Amino acid sequence: MPYVDYIIVGGGISGSVLSYTLMKHGASIHLFDVPDENMSSKVAVGLWNPIIMKRMKKVWMADEMMEVLHEVYPDIEAWTQKPFFEPLPLRRVFRNPGEQNTWMELSDQQSFAPFLQDSIEPTPSGIIAEYGSGLTKGTGRLRVNTMMASVREKLGETYSFTEEYFNWEVVEPHSEGVQYKDLKAHAIISCEGTHLALGKSQLRQQGFSPVKGELLTVQLNRDLGKECIHQGHFMLGEKGQKASIGATYAWEGFEDGPTPKAKDELIQHMDKVWSEDYKVINHYAGTRPATKDRRPIIGPHPLKENVWVFNGMGSRAVLMAPYLAQNLAEHLLYGVPLIKECDPARFKS
Ligand SMILES: Cc1cc2nc3c(=O)[nH]c(=O)nc-3n(C[C@H](O)[C@H](O)[C@H](O)COP(=O)(O)OP(=O)(O)OC[C@H]3O[C@@H](n4cnc5c(N)ncnc54)[C@H](O)[C@@H]3O)c2cc1C
Repeated sequence: MPYVDYIIVGGGISGSVLSYTLMKHGASIHLFDVPDENMSSKVAVGLWNPIIMKRMKKVWMADEMMEVLHEVYPDIEAWTQKPFFEPLPLRRVFRNPGEQNTWMELSDQQSFAPFLQDSIEPTPSGIIAEYGSGLTKGTGRLRVNTMMASVREKLGETYSFTEEYFNWEVVEPHSEGVQYKDLKAHAIISCEGTHLALGKSQLRQQGFSPVKGELLTVQLNRDLGKECIHQGHFMLGEKGQKASIGATYAWEGFEDGPTPKAKDELIQHMDKVWSEDYKVINHYAGTRPATKDRRPIIGPHPLKENVWVFNGMGSRAVLMAPYLAQNLAEHLLYGVPLIKECDPARFKS
């Protein structure tokens, strides 16, 4: 009977990055994944940014996460021989002179200097803005669907990927850990993302507070180029004179798909910030697997033996997954402590 060290359930951003990371450290894995209508990774535009643009604060553990991210995605590109890692400065448009001042002050501070360019830039034509803009450093965009497909394809070459809905009900204990059908493993790691967050998995985990998000694709009259412009919402230049506009935040209607309400919100935004004609050509919805305390859920499942959870990436999986996967892999293989704030058992009661 075949044996692997870890069965990974779910091949979104989390499961793809964790699969690679475990293998890089010498562990054998088998990935089970099925496309899910409500999965988050499929609709994510894939931006990574260590700064919360609205409040100009740094994301939790931003420095550590940025360092690992810049190693891991290029490594996965080299492993799969597919390009999907695209560094890109993000542009924050200022609404008043106070925002300009804050930007310049922060760009001078040691902890922000690696991530903010210390200049005020003119805003590209078409954007309605009076006070110029600032550009980030070290940020960018991951072509998420290309990354996930490349990892699946690469794992398929060694029969380490199965497109199958993983049925937790047929998992049995085994002297070496667990058994799933004819596959034995040391343990199973659930990377079921939105599926687990919405309570649709046979596995149960407390602590999620899912957040729905919607996006539009618009046709412009010209190419926006390599630009991602933040003004409350973002406007990201795409090929073929298109742009992605998003994203919205909602705490209900997870099963409803794209809604007129979110479309109106994004159209109103476009009308406020974009002076030229455009046409909406697509509308997407997804649900972020966010948590009640805004920290991921990573560690041993509180109730199931030999089952681990790697989830709760909220709106920042691209930034967080590489660092958190490294922490989990180093814990499983070398006993490095897990990050305490992510313990799944904190939501037990
Ligand atoms: C509109 C929108 C825009 C976003 N933009 C960004 C962004 O720019 N940058 C960013 O970092 N994040 C962004 N996010 C958030 C990001 O999408 C999520 O944090 C991330 O996708 C979560 O990935 P995941 O792998 O944990 O979960 P998921 O994407 O939900 O993936 C889970 C996978 O597991 C599979 N699965 C589940 N259960 C089983 C089972 N039993 N058997 C087999 N397979 C199973 C599912 O089918 C799916 O393929 C955005 C989200 C939304 C909604």
